[in-house]
Amino acid sequence: MNRNRKLAVVCMAAGILMLLLSCFLKMHQSPAAAAQTLTGYRILIDPGHGGFDGGAIGASGTHESDINLQIAQALQAQLCKQGAEVIMTRSTAEAVGADKNEDMRNRRSMIETSGQQITISIHQNSFPDASVSGPQVIYAPGSVQGKQLADHIQAQMNSSLLPERPRVSTQGDYYIVKSGSAPAVIVECGFLSNSTEEALLCKQNYQQRVAQAIAAGVTQYFAQEQEADH
Ligand SMILES: [Zn+2]
Repeated sequence: MNRNRKLAVVCMAAGILMLLLSCFLKMHQSPAAAAQTLTGYRILIDPGHGGFDGGAIGASGTHESDINLQIAQALQAQLCKQGAEVIMTRSTAEAVGADKNEDMRNRRSMIETSGQQITISIHQNSFPDASVSGPQVIYAPGSVQGKQLADHIQAQMNSSLLPERPRVSTQGDYYIVKSGSAPAVIVECGFLSNSTEEALLCKQNYQQRVAQAIAAGVTQYFAQEQEADH
């Protein structure tokens, strides 16, 4: 190889290296920089059931409590990445109390005293008719802000998860959504009684998509709240 060709090869190698380096830096900079949309917000996530209370059982034996925790942790990671402070009612497979009454009382007390702006309880649905599927978000009867939060999350889940029959959010007279003063929703991510949806809900990659859709709904809710304040 003569001198000029050697120089050309060295320059080319250096060029490729610089290009790779700039791609690498871009990849590692932009998500964090672009995503700090939830700084200053405190969000409480309540992964439903746990321990002695497995919740619904899937068509192939999946325990609702396990899927709830996995999706809740994916949601926690996503919200933290966007700058939010996240409080979890549980972070292990265990329940939050020794029996159902104590468990629910402890969840309510955390919801009442954590100073969060919103509460999100994560659940999976079940129905005798195995053909029923799709996510649905529930809010407390008469709660205007709860409905807004539920509508944003429902819209994001419908548009990114593309359920066969998209649902609308609905009000539900449940203990958790009626706890505390912050708007609260129950996100029923899907039906474990539907074997196709059960299989999806067990996949890490689908759980990630569910978490991202919920986080996108939360982000839109706060953006709209801020606009309304001005
Ligand atoms: Zn449940």
